[in-house]
Amino acid sequence: MDTSLQPGAGAADGSRVYPGDDERTRQAFHAPSPYPGTAAVAAPGRRAVPGRFAVIGVAVVLLLGGAGWRILPGGQDTLLAGASRLTPGELPPVPADARATRIRPEVVPLLTGEHAFLSTRPDGSPVSPDPCRPFHYAINPVGMPQGTQVLVREAIAFISEYTGLAFVEDPFTDETVDELREPVQVERYGDRWAPLLVAMADEATLSRLAGATAAVAQPHTVATSGPDSERVVTGQIALDSAFTAQAVRASAGQATMRLVLMHELGHIVGLDHVSDPTQIMHDTSTGYHYLGNGDRQGLAAVGAGRCFTDG
Ligand SMILES: [Zn+2]
Repeated sequence: MDTSLQPGAGAADGSRVYPGDDERTRQAFHAPSPYPGTAAVAAPGRRAVPGRFAVIGVAVVLLLGGAGWRILPGGQDTLLAGASRLTPGELPPVPADARATRIRPEVVPLLTGEHAFLSTRPDGSPVSPDPCRPFHYAINPVGMPQGTQVLVREAIAFISEYTGLAFVEDPFTDETVDELREPVQVERYGDRWAPLLVAMADEATLSRLAGATAAVAQPHTVATSGPDSERVVTGQIALDSAFTAQAVRASAGQATMRLVLMHELGHIVGLDHVSDPTQIMHDTSTGYHYLGNGDRQGLAAVGAGRCFTDG
């Protein structure tokens, strides 16, 4: 049995809560999240122009102490622009691995708790990935500290299990994070939605990683035929190089890194922050390494979306 696959493994004493220890970062972390609800119109032609992106970061402050380092909550979240509206002629073809029905069974949560969606369709359903096709992801291993890839895959496995969404890992990529990333990159990935990119970055290449920010997530949604058709088709997660290098050195930090990844993946599949500090989707890292009831209910909800047949 691989106990490292259990949430919170190794986190017994490495992720304690120190509410109020860092008032400055706590205040910053609780800044309003102005997630806009409008979609932009793509420029003419084949390429989709990102108009509204959500950039969501989570920050965890690492402090070096006498007996090792502790993890304090703090940091900030910022949200930017977000989605593309494509015409049918601009869509990639329906992928060969898409199915007419769900790939994995729908998850039925047994308990309920606080959860929130980044965006909803007019019918109230969350904007989330299509459950009838695998959500592809690709890792850029350049600069990625040893052990990080395993944590990425573990976090993906958790999100897959609790959403009922299927994920497929694509070959390594050399793509780097770009806030204006194109959702279709024919030369790099073929005529399909680009995979979710997981890559290292630092504040020199991504200013939003400045300060204590550990990671930034950017889900990319498209609406092909009105707001009812909006869904998540790809996205990117940037992991802060310095934070990651320090975190993965010890088991407690690895557990925190897995938590950060699960939180960011939660954003990618459509979840927003909640006020309940026992949920991993809380807007401050409070040290809870297990999915809360609200996390589970939210993940099940974003995984229970409708299927699309247009691209
Ligand atoms: Zn967040």
